[in-house]
Amino acid sequence: MGDGEPLFKRVAIIGLGLIGGSLASAIRRHRLAGQVVGYDRRADELALGEELGVIDLAADSLEEAVRGSDLVVLAVPVRATRTVLAELKPFLDRDAVLSDVGSTKSSFVADVEAVFGDLSPHVIPGHPIAGSEKSGIRAANPELFANHKVILTPADNAHQPDVERLRALWEGCGATVLTMSVAYHDEVLAATSHLPHLIAFSLVDTLAGEDENMDIFRYAAGGFRDFTRIAASDPVMWHDIFLSNRDAVLRVIDHFTHDLDQLRSAIAAGDGAMLLRVFSRAKAAREHFTKMLSGQAYVTNNSEKQVTFRLQPGGSIRGDIRVPGDKSMSHRSIMLGALAEGITEVKGFLEGEDSLATLQAFRDMGVTIEGPEDGFVRIHGVGMRGLQAPRGPLYLGNSGTAMRLFAGLLAAQPFDSELTGDASLSKRPMGRVADPLRAMGAVIDTAEGGRPPLKIRGGHKLTGIHYEMPVASAQVKSCLLLAGLYAEGVTSVTEPAPTRDHTERMLEGFGYHVHRDGATASVTGGGKLTACAIDVPADISSAAFFLVAGSIASDAELVLRHVGMNPTRVGVINILRQMGADIEVLEEREIGGEPVADLRVRSAELKGIDIPEDQVPLAIDEFPVLFIAATCAQGRTVLRGAEELRVKESDRIRVMADGLAALGVETTVTPDGIVIDGGQEIGGGAVNSHGDHRIAMSFAVASLRATGPIEITDCANVATSFPSFVELAQQTGIQIRTEGGE
Ligand code: NAP
Repeated sequence: MGDGEPLFKRVAIIGLGLIGGSLASAIRRHRLAGQVVGYDRRADELALGEELGVIDLAADSLEEAVRGSDLVVLAVPVRATRTVLAELKPFLDRDAVLSDVGSTKSSFVADVEAVFGDLSPHVIPGHPIAGSEKSGIRAANPELFANHKVILTPADNAHQPDVERLRALWEGCGATVLTMSVAYHDEVLAATSHLPHLIAFSLVDTLAGEDENMDIFRYAAGGFRDFTRIAASDPVMWHDIFLSNRDAVLRVIDHFTHDLDQLRSAIAAGDGAMLLRVFSRAKAAREHFTKMLSGQAYVTNNSEKQVTFRLQPGGSIRGDIRVPGDKSMSHRSIMLGALAEGITEVKGFLEGEDSLATLQAFRDMGVTIEGPEDGFVRIHGVGMRGLQAPRGPLYLGNSGTAMRLFAGLLAAQPFDSELTGDASLSKRPMGRVADPLRAMGAVIDTAEGGRPPLKIRGGHKLTGIHYEMPVASAQVKSCLLLAGLYAEGVTSVTEPAPTRDHTERMLEGFGYHVHRDGATASVTGGGKLTACAIDVPADISSAAFFLVAGSIASDAELVLRHVGMNPTRVGVINILRQMGADIEVLEEREIGGEPVADLRVRSAELKGIDIPEDQVPLAIDEFPVLFIAATCAQGRTVLRGAEELRVKESDRIRVMADGLAALGVETTVTPDGIVIDGGQEIGGGAVNSHGDHRIAMSFAVASLRATGPIEITDCANVATSFPSFVELAQQTGIQIRTEGGE
């Protein structure tokens, strides 16, 4: 095919109704074929097609239409397919591509096989997911397929160049083309299109038969009208569809009837909890679909969205802000609240994509969760033994914390489960939790290299162990303590260096005693959790970006409110103060077992230091932004003992060093850290964050001291950990704007 040459020389459209007419006119409008010939058994429709310019030529017979065409598309009702195929068979060119637009695909394949004896490689079934309740050529519209999906279901032996040409034809009509198997198509459509149509027909029919039918329709609200719009669809076409996709439709009807029966029983029995559970799960799922459809899904692969930060150099930092709630505590509040007895109310919940994914995962296991609304969530706890088997894999987005903590919880459940995550989470090692859990008696399969998905076999009894963690990790510790709640006897974990203790504190808050003795925390299995109220403090890891921004910018003064000051998290403050930062801790108080304070930061002359190794685990997430502080300091900063950083969302040390190099800053990477000579000029340039949110935000902070504009790519994940980052950065004085994503 040369430049400007159409995809097909002559296209025959058989059946010139809504779909056939729309396809013909789209092909003509976009000049995708040399000639478009139409054929319909209704001469008047055909003549009208020619008159309206839908087709180039109205064929008098099927023979005239098909002979010499290199693409033949059947757009007749599904029930007419076999007859039309039998009639056109003698005239079809050997190499002509044969396709259709029918709403069911197994039936088309069966018809082709019945007529031709086999499925030739030139047969490529298709189905545009576009249409309307109208039919006939008058309703034809060349833009009907624009921004809609078209599904092609080529067999394994299909002639690939034909598939590509047909794909190009539909794309030329403005559609997005998907390919899938015939069986999968019919299953998916049974659930997403056929069942809803059946329900709409049936509902309207039932109501029309009620005595008060006139009033029902007269007073029908907008919702009813929207919901029943599809009951105005062509009855004959739909009767075809149900008869030709019988098996898949029956399966999904059975499933739906079963669920409807359960709702009926719940209403009869006054089981409000069940109703609330189903409705809130459905509401969340609907919102999730809406986000997916508008390309903003929180549990689909975010890194597929391309978001770029663009920063102008310089600026100062001023203001009084509260950064979002702590992520670790938001996750844990849902987990423990779900397993507690009673209702747990959470304020300040971080509505980031990861914590929302955790919330959704518990909904999928039968927990009723209301909200979140402005950071408020109400969790109806089901008790330690009340979780139900989820219907499918639990998707945890980008969250390593969630995956490791869930592994501990789910290892002890009576049902099987599977944990999956996005591309970046799927690369992270899970052996460090799977191995000790196995030692407790859990049965867990991982993908190659101990990576997700984690397949957890339920129904295995766990026994308490003592575990000496080889590497300090709060996630591993928390995972084992959570499994320990279900294990027989005592589960104890000793850490080589202090790590975050939110799980221990929150367990205590829920009335579950955690014994702490130096570096060892232990729990005795078999207890219960009691619901409580939680006010999640602002996340110190999010505050860290602004602590560094306020320190390195000139003439800065910023107050950060209600920041969590858990002693296992304040490493960033200790390190920055040692570097000479001016950070005041105001109004120290304790909320729900966690210390909280307001922080005031002002510009300061920072100096390079040897970072004390005991502070490393207390600031593990803050190093990317601390590297920016080190670059702006006078003298050398040395980090050691931070191997952990190399297996985070990215090899954080390497990616930071590469980013700094892109801005003209030289560093030396060591196996367990980095050496940064401060006082180097930060130039402008392009930095790739490799999808690591903390790296993206750190370089945004670096712009305050840069000499030229900075572009940071692959920033979509910022929305997962710190949803209001860009807004707060702009508000305080960082000159940032985003591109893409929304
Ligand atoms: P339509 O507007 O009724 O058009 C079908 C046309 O084919 C009519 O003009 C019909 O004539 C003609 N026809 C029927 N039997 C024929 C035969 N043996 N030989 C030649 N022509 C014949 O229907 P449509 O909505 O375009 O649907 C066509 C196909 O598209 C169906 O298979 C349907 O499943 C599929 N589809 C429809 C939609 C939708 O929303 N409408 C969406 C996606 C896919 P008569 O009126 O005399 O029967």
